[in-house]
Amino acid sequence: MRKIAFYGKGGIGKSTLTSSIAAAIAGMDKRVMQIGCDPKADSTLNLRAGQELTSVMDVLQAYGGLCPSLDAISVKGYRGIVCVEAGGPTPGSGCAGRGIIKTFDTLDDFNAFQVYAPEYVFFDVLGDVVCGGFAVPVRQGYADEVVIVTSGEKMALYAAANIKKALDNFQERGYAKLRGIVLNCRNVPDEIAIVEDFVQRIGTEIIGVVPRDSDIQRAEEQNMTVVQMDSELPVSQTIIDIAKRIMVPVEEQKEGAV
Ligand code: ATP
Ligand code: MG
Repeated sequence: MRKIAFYGKGGIGKSTLTSSIAAAIAGMDKRVMQIGCDPKADSTLNLRAGQELTSVMDVLQAYGGLCPSLDAISVKGYRGIVCVEAGGPTPGSGCAGRGIIKTFDTLDDFNAFQVYAPEYVFFDVLGDVVCGGFAVPVRQGYADEVVIVTSGEKMALYAAANIKKALDNFQERGYAKLRGIVLNCRNVPDEIAIVEDFVQRIGTEIIGVVPRDSDIQRAEEQNMTVVQMDSELPVSQTIIDIAKRIMVPVEEQKEGAV
């Protein structure tokens, strides 16, 4: 089971790209699970084709802190992708990170990873929140690898650098490793060169470059990822290529096969 967390600045395109990559991999007949670690609970929206999914925090609240079943907190969406949303407290109150901790505890209570036996688990995590809860996917051994989504914008790179710093701090304890960067373009001048320079400085690589493309929004309007809407579109092909690179087993990555 490959367990990969996608981190990045708010609004950078994490949910869009995580879902699109999940759809691409599910399209290659792999079992995939996506866990939205975000109080907004909107990570898996485009994978569910309109199916309702109550967040783990909302289910816990409705049932007095005891989740009744795994079905109450998960639905199967596009090509059987298992969708879970952590959810969180009412905006402006409570601790969002706690929702993530509770979610993992609840998934463990129901042996969700054994029951669904996904080959790929994706965690979609906000990366500019200074809160230990958001580090849970990597700190508690749920994710083994991290992909950071960034553009060439200064604040996105700042967030990316902070995520890398956090990973370096955890590294000594054997937690998740940085797999690389996905550049989600915002059409900043010299964007690719800026991000190439950045990855060199932090000692990682660019896994792929996704252009700013209105087809992504066109798909979103139809409640789906662009890969589902039309896998032949140039941007879909780019995302499928990124998915294939991510699928290369970790050992082969080390041998320089990528
Ligand atoms: P948050 O931190 O709020 O969860 P996020 O990082 O998950 O945000 P998304 O919700 O995935 O960001 O993306 C924000 C918006 O940007 C969406 O409407 C999405 O369609 C759009 N978007 C993302 N990437 C691209 C792209 N490459 N081209 C065009 N639109 C994009
Ligand atoms: Mg999101």
